[in-house]
Amino acid sequence: MSKIVCVLYDDPVDGRPKTYARDDLPHLDRYPGGQTLPTPQGIDFTPGELLGSVSGELGLRNFLESHGHELVVTSDKDGDGSVLDRHLHDAEVVISQPFWPAYLTAERIAKAPNLKLAITAGIGSDHVDLSAAIEHGVTVAEVTYCNSISVAEHVSMMILSLVRNYLPSYQWVVDGGWNIADCVTRSYDLEGMHVGTVGAGRIGLAVLRRLKPFDVHLHYTDKHRLPAEVEAELGLTFHASPREMVPGCDVVTINAPLHPETENLFDDELLGSMKRGTYLVNTARGKIVDRDAVVRALESGRLAGYAGDVWFPQPAPADHPWRTMPNHGMTPHVSGSTLSAQARYAAGTREILECWFDGRPIRDEYLIVQGGQLAGTGAHSYTAAT
Ligand code: NDP
Repeated sequence: MSKIVCVLYDDPVDGRPKTYARDDLPHLDRYPGGQTLPTPQGIDFTPGELLGSVSGELGLRNFLESHGHELVVTSDKDGDGSVLDRHLHDAEVVISQPFWPAYLTAERIAKAPNLKLAITAGIGSDHVDLSAAIEHGVTVAEVTYCNSISVAEHVSMMILSLVRNYLPSYQWVVDGGWNIADCVTRSYDLEGMHVGTVGAGRIGLAVLRRLKPFDVHLHYTDKHRLPAEVEAELGLTFHASPREMVPGCDVVTINAPLHPETENLFDDELLGSMKRGTYLVNTARGKIVDRDAVVRALESGRLAGYAGDVWFPQPAPADHPWRTMPNHGMTPHVSGSTLSAQARYAAGTREILECWFDGRPIRDEYLIVQGGQLAGTGAHSYTAAT
């Protein structure tokens, strides 16, 4: 019997929903590029229901308990004596979501002698100290592609929302006003603007594809160039580095993983090289930008707007300066946790657990660390010093 500790975000303030806005989810055959959706042997949840919060339990309880395992589900993950800390000493598996990350630091991993598997129910395992996982032989896996398109849709929404000044205009209506001039003095068309992505992997490329019909000029920078036919199809301009790309952009979106090369990439210097009035959207990771440099750039007008859903730490404290900085469109970390995405990453988590307990290999595309080294997707996307 194994103990599985699953760290999930809290339930809605009014409790678990009794009804939902829609009755079903669209059927998807495959992800772009051909990767198959999760293929667990079964699921014990209704796709479209809330699975990512504590009462949703990622739909895992029946499956795990019927196989004799113990499942602990909690949102209590930080501070001395948290439920997570109290169960770490004999946990074999820890499951966590980037939206409400259980930071598996080297210290915590050292206190968890039985820990063998850390699953990210989502994408992005930078909340796990990968070097410590390697050292202690902990396998790290995530559900690659499960919410890439969810995030790409969110990025597209946030770009339009900033450029069109949507949120302040909505607020005028809620406040009972009809202040057209107040709304439009910061409102522009996206058409004709130069839009660049730092990172053109699953999310970045999907953003480029979604923005193409808006008749914008598309730019990207990445460690590897996209195939020539993709560059031609989308009319992309490649730049060798963010430093080369951002000064020519009106809108920049960050879609690269957090690792030593990208940590604090958008500092005062890089932000200062941007055109006055650039919009910056970051749904990748909070630590890719310098928190206070972003505030300064918004206050000076270097940035006309900043939006995203990733912060550090998460949850963000009540006095985090991004809550009150000017011209922002921040949300909590939600872009990759739509009900649609939850159904995919709950199924992917179940698939990984089925493989683990049956002794079958976990898909290569889900692996980040295995056998004391970076593996699968991890070997491509991460460095052990993250
Ligand atoms: P991918 O690995 O498919 O794409 C990331 C791309 O970034 C790769 O092409 C990679 O290059 C490139 N890259 C890495 N380092 C640099 C760099 N220094 N400069 C420029 N490009 C770089 O990942 P995804 O698109 O699926 O996800 C991207 C990130 O988005 C994730 O790592 C995660 O942090 C975040 N994310 C956020 C979510 C949310 O809910 N907000 C949900 C899902 C993901 P190469 O592979 O060629 O080395």
